[in-house]
Amino acid sequence: MSLVMKFGGSSVATAQRLTQVVDLVVAARPRRPAVVLSAMGKSTDALFAAGEAARNGDVGTATQRIDGVFGVAAQALGELLAAPAAAQASLDVMRTDLLTLLRGVSLLRELTPRTRDAIVAHGERIATAVFTAALRERDVPVVLIDATDWLRTDAVHGGATPLRATIATLAAAAVTPALEAGTVVVTQGYLGGTADGATTTLGRGGSDWSAALLGEALRADEVQIWTDVEGVLSADPRIVPEPRPIPVLSPAEAAELAAFGAKVLHPATIQPAVDAGIPVTVRHTLRPQGAFTTIDPRATRSARGTVAALACRGPVTVLTMTSTRMLAQSGYLARLFAAFGELGVCVDLVATAEVSVTCTVEPDAPLEKLAKALAGHAHIEVATDRAIVAAVGDGLVRAPQMLARAASALHPIVPEVTCFGGNDRNLSFVVKQSEVAAAMQRLHAAFFPAEAGTAAVGNAREVG
Ligand code: ADP
Ligand code: ASP
Ligand code: MG
Repeated sequence: MSLVMKFGGSSVATAQRLTQVVDLVVAARPRRPAVVLSAMGKSTDALFAAGEAARNGDVGTATQRIDGVFGVAAQALGELLAAPAAAQASLDVMRTDLLTLLRGVSLLRELTPRTRDAIVAHGERIATAVFTAALRERDVPVVLIDATDWLRTDAVHGGATPLRATIATLAAAAVTPALEAGTVVVTQGYLGGTADGATTTLGRGGSDWSAALLGEALRADEVQIWTDVEGVLSADPRIVPEPRPIPVLSPAEAAELAAFGAKVLHPATIQPAVDAGIPVTVRHTLRPQGAFTTIDPRATRSARGTVAALACRGPVTVLTMTSTRMLAQSGYLARLFAAFGELGVCVDLVATAEVSVTCTVEPDAPLEKLAKALAGHAHIEVATDRAIVAAVGDGLVRAPQMLARAASALHPIVPEVTCFGGNDRNLSFVVKQSEVAAAMQRLHAAFFPAEAGTAAVGNAREVG
């Protein structure tokens, strides 16, 4: 049995934070931890920017960007290690390789998805090199295993799909023996590798997914997602000032919240862990004794019957398609949505009335092409700069007073679309983007009224 501990960018941003992470990992040693790390702070953004600068032929800016990334890592090494020279030398090798890549991109003025993955992967590789050195400094037996050795994916660079059966085999061979020997394993989140050894990435925020995949492969007791909030909160703390910690969420609730914009978890994250029956906990790196959330695969569905949390996502575009031909026609919706499918447009919320269908799409959907494709079928009205506000909770839909409560809480905001009953746990409203904060705050006040003695938590994120 083992434990997977994943630490996000802010948790590994500085020497001070890394020291806290070392302490947490050392304390967890009896549970045989495998540690999955994100890139330090905002390194991934900087590496993407370096790649773009190189593509534009601006090696100077690209170099500046990566020097920022390596500078942060060098400073951390200097503070963490009595003799940082050997670890620094390995970072210098990475910097030389990265510069060679960026010069190549600049010469060709071409940045392929494969090359971009090779560039941005340096963020996680730097973080794991620094952290491994910090553990060695504390005499902790540790091995750094590159994610390409166990997280096998297809070759879709920038958004690769993990091959879960192969991952189980590779992790059993590459990771399990080290854990069984009492060695701490450190590996990168976000990265994977193809069968021919090319580095891939899982999409932004993908480290949570890596952790769940490793948990599944190792059949871990628990997957811990360490971040900068006390678990999944009742709303995004950047929008609602005093959200509440949520002690337990069902996997379906967590997935729904993530899909509706709760950035704290990657939407696909938890599935591998859930499939394997492993609890996923979300915890605050700076407050390990504080509140946290358990996403419990055994949480009984439909038990809650009220709102667990709110989430919001925007901007989205609302399309209203009207046609009198829809009246009593079979196959009309199929024809309508076939056009969306052919153009690769994802449809999100849908509401239908007698002669019209309203749906939301991403703001960059190709509206002109869509209008052309639907020309003979429907008249389209477009409303941009809208957002979805969702209340999520298992069994919510079977408590219809929730809808009345939400609608009266929103007043005087009148939602343009309401979706209730699409599944058991989601009540969604479309409002103007400019009304999102007010809508979230009003709903939060209605569903999470302040009670004496109930501690709310603030957002401890350091804006940097
Ligand atoms: P990490 O870098 O550790 O992966 P993220 O930035 O991806 O962290 O996720 C944590 C952030 O998610 C929080 O700082 C918070 O601002 C945001 N967030 C959005 N919605 C929620 C929510 N419902 N509960 C907690 N955090 C949320
Ligand atoms: N470092 C990657 C990103 O910034 C992956 C992650 O943090 O999960 O998207
Ligand atoms: Mg994240």
